[in-house]
Amino acid sequence: MHILLAEDDTILADAISAHLRGAGYTVEHAPNGPVAEFLLQRQPFDLSILDLGLPMVDGLSVLRNMRSTNQRMPVIVLTAQDALASRVAGLDAGADDYMTKPFDFPELDARVRALLRRATAAAPSAELGFGKLVFEAKTRRVSIAGEAVELSPRESLLLELLLINRDNVVTKEQIAHTWAGDDTGTVAGNGIEVYIYRLRRRLEGSGIDIRTVRGLGYLLEADPKALPRAG
Ligand code: CA
Repeated sequence: MHILLAEDDTILADAISAHLRGAGYTVEHAPNGPVAEFLLQRQPFDLSILDLGLPMVDGLSVLRNMRSTNQRMPVIVLTAQDALASRVAGLDAGADDYMTKPFDFPELDARVRALLRRATAAAPSAELGFGKLVFEAKTRRVSIAGEAVELSPRESLLLELLLINRDNVVTKEQIAHTWAGDDTGTVAGNGIEVYIYRLRRRLEGSGIDIRTVRGLGYLLEADPKALPRAG
């Protein structure tokens, strides 16, 4: 998940970037409006966090330009305290949510997660595939070679995370962070290992394996030893 952070307060920007990276997101930082627009043109982002008071080109203009060129990614605007007018203007210009400075990181996390989840659910053909495996993000249906596979909510979130990050190692912190959105309590480190073990069993015969990268995390990969699935 790639996040654009446009914020000219470097102390705040560094703190937000470090926090989001720690939560497993990749973050590009723009210290002003023109850099934000350049980055938006150069690569797709999954979400933008946009300070409205940016130098040179303000955040509202960046947001309006983004929406006028049909970039539909979720946007959270950051506004100064008691700036009701700019909050309203931000929402009118197409922001999905706003946060008033100063804010707490748990609140930011919750809003980022909610918007990313909503964006995934709303995507018209959000289908993640790997070999014979198909994961329909909207219905959360999983099938291997056309055969439905039943997964628990946590296994489903885990598989989705691995598929979204295929070719990248997924850390235990990222897994815990993904699960923090459900309300079944927290899971310790070896709880994650149990879920990995169970998901591996469910993927048997699919030609996909979950490799443990020692000290780092997990990686979804094609299983070269896999035999063709019977039937
Ligand atoms: Ca500012």
